[in-house]
Order: sequence, then C-alpha cells, then structure tokens
Amino acid sequence: MKLQTPTSVTSEDVEMPRIESEIRSCNLCTLSNTRKKAVPGEGPRDAKIMLIGEGPGHHENEQGVPFVGAAGKLLDQLLENVGLKRSDVYITNVVKCRPPGNRDPQPIEIEACSKYLDRQIDLINPRVIVTLGRFSMSRWFHGVRISDIHGQAKRDGNRWVVPMFHPAAALHNSKYRPLLVEDFKKLPQLAADSRIDESASDENRKKSGGEPPVEQLSLL
Ligand code: URA
Repeated sequence: MKLQTPTSVTSEDVEMPRIESEIRSCNLCTLSNTRKKAVPGEGPRDAKIMLIGEGPGHHENEQGVPFVGAAGKLLDQLLENVGLKRSDVYITNVVKCRPPGNRDPQPIEIEACSKYLDRQIDLINPRVIVTLGRFSMSRWFHGVRISDIHGQAKRDGNRWVVPMFHPAAALHNSKYRPLLVEDFKKLPQLAADSRIDESASDENRKKSGGEPPVEQLSLL
C-alpha cells in the first residue's frame, strides 16, 4: 500500500481562491453589469514582485486573465528582458472588471475594488510592487506626474513601490518603450535589495525605538 504524504492546507491557501471567487461574483459597482469575465489576477502566492495595472481590456474581459492582449505581450517581453517570467510575478489591476470601451476607471469603481487589492497585497506580501500607469500609481504617490518619478522606488514599510509607465503607453508612443526597458532593469536588484533592507530596517527600527524609517530614493 502506498503511503500518502500528509498535506497541510493553511488558511492562506484558501484565502486567494476565496478572494478570486468573491471578485468573480462581485457586484459592488456598475462595471459588473457590463463585464463578461472579472479578472482577479494571476501568479504565485509567494511572488516577490507584484505588478498592478489599470483594468482589464477586451481580451482580458473575454479570458478572465490579466494582461493577455497587446500590452500583455509587451509586459512579457519587458519581464523576459530582465530574466523574469510571467509565472514569477503576481499580476493584477486596480479594477477587476473592464470599464466599457476601455474608458478610465472612475474613483467610485476604484474605491469599490480597493478592498480586493488590499487583501491581495496583504496575502502575497510582495517585496516589490510595480505600479503600471497613473491609476495604480495614485494609491502610493500623490500630486506627482508619472513622467517625473517613473523608476524611482519608494519605501512602503518593508517593501518597495516603483511607479512605471503603463505598457500600453509604449504601444501608443514609442518614446516610452526605452524608459520602460530601463525601469524594468531595476526590478531584480530591488527584489534582492529588499531582503537586505528588511534586515537593515529591523536594525533601524530597534535603534529608532520601533518607528519604521520613512524614505524615498531613486535607486541605481
Ligand atoms: N491593461 C491593464 O491595465 N490591465 C490589463 O489586465 C490589461 C491591459
């Protein structure tokens, strides 16, 4: 008789399927009236890098998978260029349902969907968050222009948040492509640095009596 290896299912293992299922049946905003498939997100639960786009487009709405259209193909290339595969990272969006005609997501829709993004970030606990485009950027960066701060990593607790142009911007205007290529080159280093920084920040926290250091710096 073959002995079965015991597998332990933790509450964390069931949390992501639970979030995904809530998103698929969500009707917190009117985007649910026009969506075909909600797009919760994709990637390993222990991903070190999380990419946050804007919202599903036509192809994502058909397939229920993020970044599978033209912008997704470019995203795959940008990742490959720095030795990363799509399956290494977690990819999601600020809104999980397609805004009709690819219009901008409205503040009320972003707000309604933010509880899902909060839970995904808490669960994945990535070392690096990449915001793709201004809608995800504005969660962390206020009153700034993406063209002024793209590629500059900002510390948020024990992780880095890096604002970048949306890949679709490079499809509309080729001047953004080399900027994206350069910004993506910082990712492997940031994902590795953050581990060092995490232990360094523990030291700093001890020194500063428990307060995490607040810093914003442009790396590399
Ligand atoms: N653009 C986005 O912001 N997200 C997708 O999933 C696809 C295109």
